[in-house]
Amino acid sequence: MSAFAEFWLIAGALFLWESTLWLPLRSVVLRRAWFGKRWRVLAADRLLVMRELGLVPMLPLPPDGGLAPCQAPPLALAADGTFVLESATGRTELLAAFTWDDLRAEPHHLQVGTRLARISSPRCIEVLRRAKQRGATPQAAVRQAWRLALSPPRAAREWRRWRLVSGPLRWLGPLLTGGFFIGLPVVYVYRGSQPTLFFALWLWCLMGWIAAQLWWLGHRVYPGARAALRMDALLALVVPFHAMRALEIAAIHAMGTTHPAGLLLATGDFANPWLGGFVRRVLHPLPGVAADAGWASALHAPLAAALAHCGKSMQDYEAAPDAANDPAASAYCPRCHGRYLAPVQSCPDCLGLELRGFAKPKPACPPPASGIFP
Ligand SMILES: [Zn+2]
Repeated sequence: MSAFAEFWLIAGALFLWESTLWLPLRSVVLRRAWFGKRWRVLAADRLLVMRELGLVPMLPLPPDGGLAPCQAPPLALAADGTFVLESATGRTELLAAFTWDDLRAEPHHLQVGTRLARISSPRCIEVLRRAKQRGATPQAAVRQAWRLALSPPRAAREWRRWRLVSGPLRWLGPLLTGGFFIGLPVVYVYRGSQPTLFFALWLWCLMGWIAAQLWWLGHRVYPGARAALRMDALLALVVPFHAMRALEIAAIHAMGTTHPAGLLLATGDFANPWLGGFVRRVLHPLPGVAADAGWASALHAPLAAALAHCGKSMQDYEAAPDAANDPAASAYCPRCHGRYLAPVQSCPDCLGLELRGFAKPKPACPPPASGIFP
């Protein structure tokens, strides 16, 4: 293999490596369908999982313009006043009461006492920090963080703002990618080495433009993620593959305080299967798991309010699953919608949650015994 081919092979591999997002296991990424209002849901804990992070691949080409890596607040306040933390590994844990002094913001974590929650963007903590500056209690701050994260009007605003401020990155990224992988070899083969140098210099100017955009985003639009965006800007200045994926990398901060359910409701994707599953997990917590019950009770009120804003209720997602292709099934799990045959009474996948029976179809009108006037 020639040195030229080797170089492009390595460049392609580096580009594919940069075309991945490593996000906390509890993250959910929404990808907008090309046409219509539907979203595809990509969970971080599906494809490739490390201790705290999971891999979400981006579309290699064209750029992933409709990518929304959403992030829920890591802390919730249960109905009985207990705090619940979604830990670094994605599990929920009950917490003892804490004060503002017990909360510490690390570069990639929120530390509560001795426990850690992994966060995808520092903007996630910014809501709590502002509440503290206003003099709010940690309880009020956590409740407000969830109200904001699930609010459909706010999610619509955040998405609109991101679409607006990311305009230049949408075409600068593909221009740099095309220039690097197609333009550079073509100029080298047909024009020689000196024009190639000038072309590479022009590509570097594009990288500088992308870096300036990232710097501006951190300075003016998302000050809560200023340090992270500045680091991305510096990387975009020296690593072309990082600059090529700048749009998707910055999207993490743009949607860093928005829950996926809020964005789904804001854009009218009410029938999204993931949304149905999320509502059912809140309605039917795992029996005997105090942390899950606390998490569900914390989310109940803000989720009901978000649904009511769109003219929906949580009961709309309680319908039985379609059993047309499984006529022998007699009951279903109200949480995971697993279908079961007659003797089974509880769902083994949901730690023994009680099953519900399918509604019996109405019997057809029996024919008269013998004629109309027996
Ligand atoms: Zn189940």
